[in-house]
Amino acid sequence: MVTIAFIGVGNMGGGMAANLVKAGHVVRAFDLAPAALDRARGNGCHIVGSAAEAADGADAIVTMLPAGAHVRAAYEGELFAAASPNAVLIDCSTIDVATAKSIGEAAHKLARAMVDAPVSGGTAAADAGTLTFMVGGPDAAFAAARPILEQMGRAVIHAGGAGMGQAAKICNNMILGSTMIATAEAFVLAEKLGLDAQTFFDISSKASGQSWSMTSYCPVPGPVPASPANRDYQGGFAAGLMLKDLKLAAQAAQGAGASVPMGAEAAALYQLFVNNGGGAVDFSGIVKLLRGA
Ligand code: NAD
Repeated sequence: MVTIAFIGVGNMGGGMAANLVKAGHVVRAFDLAPAALDRARGNGCHIVGSAAEAADGADAIVTMLPAGAHVRAAYEGELFAAASPNAVLIDCSTIDVATAKSIGEAAHKLARAMVDAPVSGGTAAADAGTLTFMVGGPDAAFAAARPILEQMGRAVIHAGGAGMGQAAKICNNMILGSTMIATAEAFVLAEKLGLDAQTFFDISSKASGQSWSMTSYCPVPGPVPASPANRDYQGGFAAGLMLKDLKLAAQAAQGAGASVPMGAEAAALYQLFVNNGGGAVDFSGIVKLLRGA
């Protein structure tokens, strides 16, 4: 049992903090939103009045915040100063690679063990403790973070140095956004050509058009009963969050001089979908846009 400071107990962090409590740890939670704190209290967390109070004397600090600016403000504003020298600092938020690298390097200069550890998996995986963590940071920091991450997920993978967890996350989600659009447009074309969706799935899922977007998350109802298409695209991974990740990928590509035309097109289409009111809908709902809805 260790003491863990958890900053940001929202949709994702709430479930993750609850799993750390279930694993027997003392979890001190801080958030700006009273509703998030109420849920954390109900799940057995100790509620504190500031990030610094949460961090004081804790063995580990986990942050799960909206974006890079929040993460920078949290660490540079309070957490670096409040953290014990031996604490491991774990940022699980999805943020831009440049900010993750710079915060990781700042931690290194202060002789603090820190990793960026963004997740794959949505709120259901956060609640169930089945997230995948992509981790960037020095070997010793990874070794310190790993046992804690394992209690919130089922896969913990070391991707490289500071910022490489974020790099892995946005590269993965750039593939996901692009393959989802490609899969959705193929189902729309099949439909217009008179090819039955299940028949097309039975063929393509065993042929070279196969991808996770088709076989695990099929964007039309029927072939994959668990996919959000079967519940009118409610729940799942919101299109607004997919757009966020595609924008982070575009930003990283610009900084690195990488050519990502498919990722850029995916970002443009998700922007259109979000502008049309699809931000809260599961990202596979983009099939509706491609149908002309
Ligand atoms: P959320 O908005 O539900 O939670 C973020 C929480 O941070 C909020 O409760 C907010 O009040 C709190 N917060 C903001 N600034 C704070 C501060 N300075 N101090 C303390 N608390 C602060 O968002 P979420 O869905 O939980 O997402 C969190 C992160 O996880 C994001 O970076 C997101 O991109 C990533 N993510 C989300 C999902 C998902 O399906 N929701 C999936 C993968 C990754």
